Amino acid sequence: MKCRVCRGPAVIDVRRHNAAFCPDHFVTHCREQVRRAITDHHMIDPEHRIVVAVSGGKDSLALWDLLVGLDYQPDGVYLGLGIGEYSNDSLDHARAYATDRGVTLHEVDLAAEQGFTIPAAAAATHRAPCGACGLSKRHLLNRFALEHHYDTVATGHNLDDEAAVLLGNVLRWETEYLARQHPVLPATTGFARRIKPLVRLGERETAAYCVIRGIDYQVDECPMAAGNRHLHYKDVLNRLEQRSPGSKAAFFHGFLDHAHDRFADHPDGDDTGAHLGRCTECGAPTTTDVCAFCRLRHRATSRP
Ligand code: SF4
Ligand code: ZN
Repeated sequence: MKCRVCRGPAVIDVRRHNAAFCPDHFVTHCREQVRRAITDHHMIDPEHRIVVAVSGGKDSLALWDLLVGLDYQPDGVYLGLGIGEYSNDSLDHARAYATDRGVTLHEVDLAAEQGFTIPAAAAATHRAPCGACGLSKRHLLNRFALEHHYDTVATGHNLDDEAAVLLGNVLRWETEYLARQHPVLPATTGFARRIKPLVRLGERETAAYCVIRGIDYQVDECPMAAGNRHLHYKDVLNRLEQRSPGSKAAFFHGFLDHAHDRFADHPDGDDTGAHLGRCTECGAPTTTDVCAFCRLRHRATSRP
């Protein structure tokens, strides 16, 4: 196997590009994919202050490193979810990266600031933990960005993640979610801009990128992931990809090119925030008196 660029020994093949790369040219390939995603979707304004949502896993650390490699100057924010040893180890990896590379990592701790953990929220709501976790992450990352004057929150969602979410949304024709499934969600009243610069890289590539760049990441899966239906969708898509390389990229990027606008025109797709009221407890935009996050906090912190 030879590198497509220099014909030296290749360390990884990327079948959907029908190419293999040596370590240096693989790093260049990853940067080029991120640069293209940023350009194609007008993700970043040079004036923007960016904060990367860092979980300590391969995707978010690769994203942070790739943005720095492309001469952006993002800071990172780690959100402690209180998932036992898994959260402690993840924080160690995030801190180690920040210290090694001399970049700024902020830390937000759910238990210290809000009085509950994701396992406690899951127990209190009798629901799968990922719902409470996703809601908490969106709410607290947005709040952190607004309070600290970051214009943009960058997240490490990769091509595999986005294709799996898209499959789930299409299977149920979730038109409102399809309207919002895009690598850029513009800033609206009460919401910072959100971007997903890794949508042109698969998770196998972000893992290889971290190994080649010497980034030590959290390799364990979240112990609360079981039951997350996106894992099944990923499995199905991986089997398709195996038989027909390029299927995931064609599915997701084809949606963005040919179909997303049709759903964005959906009346429910209005996301200007102008029609929303304010949570009477935290001030976040909401359609109800008390926002979903504050309601979750009440349930998770009230004694049975
Ligand atoms: Fe949160 Fe679920 Fe991800 Fe675990 S797997 S970090 S519970 S969203
Ligand atoms: Zn609230």
